[in-house]
Amino acid sequence: MALFHNMQCVRCSSRQLKIDAQSIQCERCVTTYKISHGVPILFPDVITQTISQDLPEEIIGWLGVVMDLPNDYETLSKLKSIFSTTYQFGDFLLDAENNQFLDRLQNSGINIPESAKFLLKTQTPITSATRLHQLLEQKNLNQINTVLDKVGASASVNIEYSSSPPTPRYRWILDYLPRRMSAAKVFTGNARLENVGTIPLSSHTAYPIMISYHWRTLNGEVITFDGHRTPFPIELGSGRQLTIPVKIETPSEPGDYLLELTLLEEGHRWLDEDAKQIPIKVTKEPIPDLTAHWQKSNQPPANYAENQIAGLNWLKAQLQETGKSEFTILEIGGTAHSMLFHFTGELYNVDIDIHAMQIGALLNQHWNKQVQFICADAHTLPFPDETFDAIILSNALHHFPDVRQFLRTIARKLRPDGFIAVLSEPVGHYYGSNISPDFLQELFKGVNEQSFTLAEYADIFCSSGLIAEVTADEGSLRAFLRLM
Ligand SMILES: [Zn+2]
Repeated sequence: MALFHNMQCVRCSSRQLKIDAQSIQCERCVTTYKISHGVPILFPDVITQTISQDLPEEIIGWLGVVMDLPNDYETLSKLKSIFSTTYQFGDFLLDAENNQFLDRLQNSGINIPESAKFLLKTQTPITSATRLHQLLEQKNLNQINTVLDKVGASASVNIEYSSSPPTPRYRWILDYLPRRMSAAKVFTGNARLENVGTIPLSSHTAYPIMISYHWRTLNGEVITFDGHRTPFPIELGSGRQLTIPVKIETPSEPGDYLLELTLLEEGHRWLDEDAKQIPIKVTKEPIPDLTAHWQKSNQPPANYAENQIAGLNWLKAQLQETGKSEFTILEIGGTAHSMLFHFTGELYNVDIDIHAMQIGALLNQHWNKQVQFICADAHTLPFPDETFDAIILSNALHHFPDVRQFLRTIARKLRPDGFIAVLSEPVGHYYGSNISPDFLQELFKGVNEQSFTLAEYADIFCSSGLIAEVTADEGSLRAFLRLM
């Protein structure tokens, strides 16, 4: 199969792959990858499950219409077969992004008929009966009341603590805070943490857990102890990670400081044991704006469809400038209606959502296009370094847990004159309860929603070793990234 020309094994990087209609086998490390409905699934350990309830005929027909597929028996039975299986990777983040094809349709404004709603991904249960049981055993009254609130029960539980409840534990993983800040400024900056303890981190308990900070001198002397509070937007379960814009006020005097990011149980105690100190230079002068040469408009954000069209036209213009006519292009997170349908050459769309890739493969066949749809983790791409003329990320970059590390990883797959196109990327921070319902819903489901400011993007691109040309409006950004 010529289409897999540039592919390599994600385990051992060997190009010696034995490919048939059902599977890909690596001849070096003997790993077998399934091909399902024309889509290689590059996870040897993926767990498949058959759904007991068949998708009703009318829904299949409706889905065909919505997706622009032909209304013939063969296509409709393929659709039925695609949606009869769900997949699990055993990884919280990857699983949250998978099996949610209909959810995505719904998010883009399409009404899902009642009879297909059983396929919508219900909110990840934050607290279950099992959890309640655990809490009862631990006699954790605060948490029990939270659980009861959530399930709408109005029971009063009277428990005497036999021992104190467990201490919340956390780990700061990374942050997007600038290392130079102006004095006496209030701002929000993103930091990412993981719940490494046994109890959820929640701002809706009797002693709400909040994010805060202290300012210290380099000798450890406290300048500001009681920092601003930032609540958790959702209850963060054990083992889960979240990026949160943290509200911070800088000291009034310039100097070298330590910013100590920490948590507290409001009205009870500081949780400084897991705090992280970040050295920060506070200056009197304003900090030079890294985004100064970016093209910025005060236009309200364009809608999603307008953004997509503008992005596509811009991308075509960029590719035309190279003077080539055939390209090797990778789209990451392109779902079924890949932008690559508008191009010719060697085209790969890599996404974690298996159903979306399978529908994409059907569309590709129907429209007689050249796009190869692949289900893989974009951190371990099945291609050698220096393969692509262009890598496209449309409304996808902010979903990766470590955006800088991810950009560095994919930049290695670019040819020296290649570029990364970042399209329709959301811009801005929420604070506290000022968070959109859609965003919150995604967080509940476990999707890695994050949002960055223009200043954070500038730092992200620069520290990933990329030169950025950026156009932005009030709500979204388009960036053309080249290797330095
Ligand atoms: Zn291998």
